[in-house]
Amino acid sequence: MPHKKSITELSAGLAAGEYSSVELTEHYLKRIEKHNDLNCYITVDQEGALQQASQADALIASGEAGALTGVPMAHKDIFMTEGLATTCGSRMLENFVAPYDATVVTKIKQAGMVTLGKANMDEFAMGSSNENSYFGRVLNPWNTATVPGGSSGGSAAAVAAGLAPIATATDTGGSIRQPAALCGLTGMKPTYGRVSRWGMVAFASSLDQAGPMAQSAEDCALLLNAMSGFDEKDSTCMDRPVDDYSATLNDSLKGLRIGLPREYFSEDLDPAMRKVVDDALKVYEGLGAQLIEIDLPNTHLSIPVYYIVAPAECSSNLSRFDGVRYGHRCDDPKDLNDLYSRSRGEGFGAEVTRRIMIGTYALSSGYYDAYYLKAQQLRRLIKEGFERAFEQVDVIMGPTSPDVAFPIGAKADNPVDMYLSDIYTISANLAGLPAMSIPVEQVNQLPAGLQLIGNYWSESRLLNIAHQFQQSTAWHSQKPAGFFEGES
Ligand code: GLN
Repeated sequence: MPHKKSITELSAGLAAGEYSSVELTEHYLKRIEKHNDLNCYITVDQEGALQQASQADALIASGEAGALTGVPMAHKDIFMTEGLATTCGSRMLENFVAPYDATVVTKIKQAGMVTLGKANMDEFAMGSSNENSYFGRVLNPWNTATVPGGSSGGSAAAVAAGLAPIATATDTGGSIRQPAALCGLTGMKPTYGRVSRWGMVAFASSLDQAGPMAQSAEDCALLLNAMSGFDEKDSTCMDRPVDDYSATLNDSLKGLRIGLPREYFSEDLDPAMRKVVDDALKVYEGLGAQLIEIDLPNTHLSIPVYYIVAPAECSSNLSRFDGVRYGHRCDDPKDLNDLYSRSRGEGFGAEVTRRIMIGTYALSSGYYDAYYLKAQQLRRLIKEGFERAFEQVDVIMGPTSPDVAFPIGAKADNPVDMYLSDIYTISANLAGLPAMSIPVEQVNQLPAGLQLIGNYWSESRLLNIAHQFQQSTAWHSQKPAGFFEGES
């Protein structure tokens, strides 16, 4: 059953000739069809995938294969994929076929991976439940009455259900870590500037960052090796050497200083979630780490600051979708105003419209100083709070999300409740720090996540810290019932 295997194992199986990349790809394509009801994919590229797989087989046969050659994967539908629909989960881009590949896509192709298709997502990456996709909600394979998290819910549900061994995702305020937590996966948002944003549809440019969504830290390291690096096409991408993220996974954690922010462990934290986080921290103590209480005094400001900065940037980024240069165009417009307002009104869903309105308001003259400028000042304070904390500790830990997967519809009519899903994740984006989520003991038979926030450019160390936990525990290898029994 190859769909149970990590990408490290799949790569070994390919090298040993247990299966070809074409056979492996066909296996995943069949599974995607069989579990179509989860709605993980917006586009499945059967033909392209098989073509890439046979090219990978030729490379493997010639002895020129790399660590990822011939291994299938899925891209969040926010990445440009040449010749393939790139919808960003929106009606606005329903018929858009990308004319070029995003840098992340190019790099992953160069590593020889096979693209199975494009994963479902909340429209323009706005959401925490994947209920905002124009292409329909995604079901969580752990319990199909619950949400997989968002916005990268399609990537998460696909990997959790074995419909892709690994996937790309993006994180503006938590969209890699929160769905990873809700689906029992390991996900990483790298330091802002580590991975190129070129060809990734922009939501909030100063916060967006791409990263891997995988079954383990070891797999995350392999995909991050392929995704990372300088790109002159993205002026915010850092020209700085990329570590070999697989090389230091086995380093010792003796003497590791773990910071526990009092603000993350307040009375508001659900006792059941607190217990599984505490149990995970005990594992770290057993590995030689030291727990240190710290303060991140501006934590409570992160959601209000984010909901000024992110909508402001999105209102600017999404202004290009006007029905003229880009995006859906309404039928028979009366005049130019009618063309703009109906094209945008029809193309964007309710949540995206809400964000554009908030952002436009916050940026308007007379309000700019009161909202946007103030938010930027507070953002600086949040960043400085982390800088002070990292003088005392090497990594910060806490829950990834306040709750496990919630029922479909439970927060759909209450945007503020939905926004609070990211209470622990958003500040890492505001500060530009790398952060991960790893599975810990379940709560009510549903996966829960531990968040690890590291200092700038500490991806190697974070992956090492995550991998050591996964060497001592088995939470990351648990699979949802109904997807892994039997042969196919
Ligand atoms: N849930 C947050 C939002 O709706 C974060 C989304 C993201 O990280 N892309 O904006």
